[in-house]
Order: sequence, then C-alpha cells, then structure tokens
Amino acid sequence: MQLLDIGANLTHESFQHDLGAVLQRARVQGVTRIVVTGASREGSEHALALARAHPGTLFATVGVHPHHAIDYDDATDARLRELAQDPAVRAVGETGLDYNRNYSPREVQLRVFERQLQIAVDLQMPLFLHQRDAHADFVSLLRRYRDQVPGAVVHCFTDTGEALRDYLDLDCHIGITGWICDERRGTHLRELVRTIPANRLMLETDAPYLLPRTVRPPPAHRRNEPMYLKHICEEVARDRGESAEVTAANSTATAEAFFGLAPAP
Ligand SMILES: [Zn+2]
Repeated sequence: MQLLDIGANLTHESFQHDLGAVLQRARVQGVTRIVVTGASREGSEHALALARAHPGTLFATVGVHPHHAIDYDDATDARLRELAQDPAVRAVGETGLDYNRNYSPREVQLRVFERQLQIAVDLQMPLFLHQRDAHADFVSLLRRYRDQVPGAVVHCFTDTGEALRDYLDLDCHIGITGWICDERRGTHLRELVRTIPANRLMLETDAPYLLPRTVRPPPAHRRNEPMYLKHICEEVARDRGESAEVTAANSTATAEAFFGLAPAP
C-alpha cells in the first residue's frame, strides 16, 4: 500500500530535530511521498529547500497562508513566482481565506488571495487552498479564476455538504485530514466523504496539527506525523464502504495526477 500525503507542515519547528526519522517512519508505513506546505515567504523557501534535499520523496507548495496575508508585499509576490519555477514546487499555496481568526484583515486576505490566484494563472500551476468560515467570499473569487488554472484542491475540508457541492461543481479536488477521525466533530464528514468522486479525493495529515484521534495510544507529544496517514485512509475507507487498499490506490493515483508526479513503481 502506497500513500501520498498531500499536505504536511514539515517546516514546523517541531520537525527540526528529527526529520530524517520522521521520513523513515513514514516510509515504513507506506507514505513514500509528501508534499510540504509552504505557508509564508520564509516557510515557502524552507519547504523548497526540504524538497530539494529529498528529491523524489518531498515536494513543495509555495504560498502565503491567509493568517500571514498582512506580510505579503511586492517582494513576496516576486519571490513566490521565482520559487514556483523550481520543478520540486508542485502547487501555489497555501492560500485562501480564514475568517475564523482574522489574523489578517479580510480585505487584505482577499487581495492577497487574488494575487496568488494570478500567480497560478500566470504559471499554469494547480492551487493548494485553505478556507475557513469564509465560503461565500472564497467560492466567488475562486469561481472567477477556476477556468484559468489547471487544478485546485480545497485542503483540510471540514465544511458543509453545500460547500462541498460548490467545490465539486467547480471541479475542485478535496483534501481530507484526520479531522474525519474525530468522533466528536467529524461525523458529518463521514457522510460527505462518500459523495466525493474517487478521482477528486486526496488524503493529508496537515502534520504536526490534527493528530487523528484513532491513533491509540496517542504519542506523548501529540505531534501528528505523515506516518499516521494510514489512520485517515482507514477511516475514509470505512466511511466509503471500500477497502483501505482501494482508498489508498485511488487517492494516490489522484494525487499523482493532480501534482503531476510520475506513478510510483
Ligand atoms: Zn490550511
């Protein structure tokens, strides 16, 4: 069983001291490829550096998360465009809107999201998207650009059935995290995940966040790692009424196609 983690924040400081061991454990659990999320200018530089250091295993996205939109200036825009030319960079993002915490003002988030949509259009790259409590604004902006970009994944999808239908209507891909393994808040997702076509469904840990609650006993440090992707795969398989092998094979093939990666041998 081969898995591909489409979103891991391996630039996070908690991975600074043992990344080699983290990647080794992931490999043992079948997670042979990981797309490292870039979420700020420095984070994107770091994500690309990691991808370059682990060719064929790590890939990167470059972008600025809505939380950091306030830091986005012309130099950031130019730098992201430069970084995105590297063949190890497979998507523009993480970008989007987050009205849950509003760390950056909404009008700034909207402007910065649109600038990154334009990068994806200009470079003809897929988008790695984040949306929280901002569906209406998010989908209306995305709708204007969707036809001009080769693909878009709404990562860490936790929203309603209505939002899901809007994204599928726009031919977006959907990223499912360990949120679905949370029996307290993931129940609606278990119904919804059945309605996502196999060729639009991808799996991600969002490590070090969102440790699946099905990891028992939980590690003392509570850090999520790509090796736990299997738990997400197993929960999604249960919900879809298929074997974990089928979910793994389909989500991996879907991710390969989305990020333009060669099929695993
Ligand atoms: Zn996110």
